[in-house]
Amino acid sequence: MNHFDYRDGILHCEDVPLTRIADEVGTPVYVYSTATFRRHAQVFRDGLKDLGRVHLAYAIKANPNVAVLRVLAEEGYGADVVSGGEMARALAAGIPAADIVFSGVGKTRAELSRGLDEGIGQFNLELEEEGAVLAQIAHAKGRRAPAVLRVNPDVDAGTHAKISTGRAENKFGVPIDQAPAMFDRLAPLDGLDLRGVACHIGSQLADLSRLEEAYRRIGQLVADLRAAGHTITRVDLGGGLGVPYKAGDVLPSPADYGAMVARVTEGWDVELMFEPGRVIAGNAGVLLTEVIWVKPGVTNPYVIVDAAMNDLARPALYDAWHDFDAVAPSGERMTANIAGPVCESGDTFAMGRDIDAVKSGDLAVFRTAGAYGATMASTYNSRALVPEVLVDGDRFAVVADRIAAETILAAERVPEWLTPGRAAR
Ligand SMILES: *Cc1c(COP(=O)(O)O)cnc(C)c1O
Repeated sequence: MNHFDYRDGILHCEDVPLTRIADEVGTPVYVYSTATFRRHAQVFRDGLKDLGRVHLAYAIKANPNVAVLRVLAEEGYGADVVSGGEMARALAAGIPAADIVFSGVGKTRAELSRGLDEGIGQFNLELEEEGAVLAQIAHAKGRRAPAVLRVNPDVDAGTHAKISTGRAENKFGVPIDQAPAMFDRLAPLDGLDLRGVACHIGSQLADLSRLEEAYRRIGQLVADLRAAGHTITRVDLGGGLGVPYKAGDVLPSPADYGAMVARVTEGWDVELMFEPGRVIAGNAGVLLTEVIWVKPGVTNPYVIVDAAMNDLARPALYDAWHDFDAVAPSGERMTANIAGPVCESGDTFAMGRDIDAVKSGDLAVFRTAGAYGATMASTYNSRALVPEVLVDGDRFAVVADRIAAETILAAERVPEWLTPGRAAR
């Protein structure tokens, strides 16, 4: 469910017509619905209500806009961060350091040190050496780093290869069969407070049985670790729940997920943690765009829109589907390809799609663009960095400026040994 609906023939975000945002901010622009973020945050929490006290760390890489983080902080979410930059954002949004989980397969020593200084609540270790180094840095500061060991359960998540993380050959986590020996070596270190384990097998998961299998393996590991004398108080079950991208898609609900987790984790006697990203943010945003041209094609016309792969990379990266709807549909339909202006054939959002008939100058949206949308944007082809707008009821605010190509150009330098402003001869 989301708060993007037609009223009087015009697509609105909550009470704001998207035509107004296009007029005042221009296109392309991401538009987010506060009410949808809040609803998803509550529905996810409700789905887990039978589990007792759980810790929810929103995976901010899905949508790290600082205003979005504020909304989720108000909903009681902590943050899962994967870089020093994300840590800084979470802190800037007012999320307490103790509610921040620091994940990521390549945390640098400087990032580990900064995380300790900030008082980060949990470090998710990705390899044994990271644990040893973190222990050393913490010990030197007279501290003990709260940590869990991320385990790779070797389960095929059944999702796109580029967002699968829980197969043995993926770069994430330590092999589950090696985890007990690593635990034996890391747990005694002075600078480390090793509390348990974590797993995250992938994103846009549609099949709960894969997650269930991963969680069962984690449950067995917890039992093995306890049998070996370790104290296990925390298990971080990651994120990954999928969202419907196509009208009519049916995915497991947070309630289905919660019921599965309750069944699998019964008797674990640990504090459970979750790192939802997409399921919170996906349907809370659209990418609003204007049709530049409708270009005749061999089979179907190309609708060339002013948004491109640099603004929304998912179709180019993962062959992802985003529903495309006119902001003021005429009722007519057309079959078309939808593409952006970037000089790559991969800059194509859809081929041979049945869509609302559109013409040059019309507004349209790519739906379900609230997760892994703006956060992946680039300025490729010297395009501006796409802005973001947050709607709340009948008001809206620009929560990330459009960064003009000229501003980006201004950050570049021609070294003194090159003659500025003169073409090569
Ligand atoms: C990306 C990521 C998540 C969130 O995944 P979603 O599919 O967006 O829920 C959670 N945990 C870790 C460690 C991640 O890398």
